[in-house]
Amino acid sequence: MRYAVGIDLGGTRIKGALVDGRGNLVTAAKTATAAAQGVEVVIERIRRLIAELLLSVPKGGTVVGVGLAVPGVIDMPSGTVLFLPNLPGGWSDVPLARLVGDHFGLPTHLLNDARAATLGEKRYGSGRNSRNMVCLTLGTGIGGGIIINDELYFGSEGTAGEVGHQTVELHGPPCNCGNEGCAEALASGPALAALAVKAVMQGATTKIRDLAEGDLNRITPKLVSQAAALGDPVALGIIRKVGGYIGTAIANLVAVLNPDMVVVGGGVAQAGPALFQAIEETVASRVHVAKGGRGNVVIVPAGLGEDAGVAGAAAWALERAGDSRS
Ligand SMILES: [Zn+2]
Repeated sequence: MRYAVGIDLGGTRIKGALVDGRGNLVTAAKTATAAAQGVEVVIERIRRLIAELLLSVPKGGTVVGVGLAVPGVIDMPSGTVLFLPNLPGGWSDVPLARLVGDHFGLPTHLLNDARAATLGEKRYGSGRNSRNMVCLTLGTGIGGGIIINDELYFGSEGTAGEVGHQTVELHGPPCNCGNEGCAEALASGPALAALAVKAVMQGATTKIRDLAEGDLNRITPKLVSQAAALGDPVALGIIRKVGGYIGTAIANLVAVLNPDMVVVGGGVAQAGPALFQAIEETVASRVHVAKGGRGNVVIVPAGLGEDAGVAGAAAWALERAGDSRS
């Protein structure tokens, strides 16, 4: 059996797994990123995690490479990290693939983390039976990726798939990317929580206040979805509003790309049926260019949860090594 190591570098944690050709996580491990201690320390932690995972390769197994998912802008052909917005300094022009790969004598390939999660869902998760797929990960930001004819689509410079930076409100709030009215600025986890904080501060009668026990810092997307599950109208209103923005972003993608599947994951996606209903209604009302209006696209929750990134990173390494796609 052939294996790859998948690594998902995050701002607070580095996750890793030894993954087999069918997408099974044979062993998984994680460690704190210690990003504040600088690039060298983070790279050493990645190496230690890989070394630990390599100890668990079953007898007779072959490791074909390492896939490294990183949260930022990379140059894929050279395996260089260009810019990581959420990790402190020093991450410009770091030849990460070489610094990790040479250490183990293993081919090592970089991939943007959101694209890795997209590939994970495509190969091993909810997207297994799709051919043309779009993925949106709704978390602290909104990431994603595009699959065309079973392959990740990267565009002309490798940055395609930034689904969270579509303008969905012409003169909306500023986004971290420099634009205004991006889906990410209006429908990410922090944006959703901010709507709930505002409602509580304005004195709305809502279970959000009770669940947070009056502490605004305890208001999270999860708490808002808990209130919505209890039928709280304020919470439901917030989720419908956010779902409208996400639905608009998805409607744009459906109109432009005609995918057969849209996979929606991340913490905000756990807001559940109310969110998906708002997304469905928005897509149905906005897309009229495909067969029967919106076409045959299905919108489904992600299947791999937090493992999508490591699974996708490993899939990337397996594919670069020439392994057939499952
Ligand atoms: Zn943006």
